[in-house]
Amino acid sequence: MPAQDRTAWLKGGMAHCTTPPRIPLGQPWRLVLLGAPGVGKGTQAELLAERVACCHLSTGDIFRAAESFDAQARRPALQSAFACMQRGALVPDEIVLALLRERIRCLHCPGGFLLDGFPRTTVQAEALEELLRHEAVPLTAVFNYYLPREKIAARIAGRRICPQCQAHYHVQNQRPRKEGVCDHCGGGLVLREDDRPESVVVRMKAYEESSWPLIEFYQKRGLLVNIDADGPPEAVYRRSRMLALHN
Ligand code: AMP
Repeated sequence: MPAQDRTAWLKGGMAHCTTPPRIPLGQPWRLVLLGAPGVGKGTQAELLAERVACCHLSTGDIFRAAESFDAQARRPALQSAFACMQRGALVPDEIVLALLRERIRCLHCPGGFLLDGFPRTTVQAEALEELLRHEAVPLTAVFNYYLPREKIAARIAGRRICPQCQAHYHVQNQRPRKEGVCDHCGGGLVLREDDRPESVVVRMKAYEESSWPLIEFYQKRGLLVNIDADGPPEAVYRRSRMLALHN
């Protein structure tokens, strides 16, 4: 199954998706995914997007997609967000929230959505809660993926990304059909700028500082589903689905 068209999300502004969204058989799932960088959230997001039909709304992908825009065409907010991302630092809340508000129609996607990399702070979680209440689109669940640090470090070192279509790969666990080449668009695979060791240290610290308040926030609301992210992507996917259905 192809994933949903993400043009409206990645480009924002007046851009719209040209492929009509796939409609799930049951209720659309509206998810938030939490987990440290490298825990495998992006891979799970791709599996969920393919199989549950929800649209993969990753804030990090907006910033990475902006990399391929002409520097002149990037709006100043995006330009400064991009500089934060390259350092591995969090982009200021007001910039991220402005980007989300600009893409509010994506929260109404009939296929549902999964927010990946957002919210990252309680300010963002509170703003999201308010926005979803206002738009009358309640969350189905918040998936919290967890894994020991040494396993996370090994996963990050092997990650590769296609800079053209943002597809994710891993040199051991999720190889492309042809080494170094994207299966979807033929682009050359690269190590993400923020997966370089110096950026990873900053990102892990930022995650550790910000994750507990978020976990508590969603636990209090009865939305949190804790998922052991160890093992092959398919096993983690099955675990997530089963836990969500029994939550
Ligand atoms: P990700 O792909 O989610 O790991 O995001 C990559 C980078 O984009 C992060 O290290 C941050 O610099 C930035 N970023 C993405 N989402 C957010 C967010 N919700 N709040 C702040 N910064 C973000």
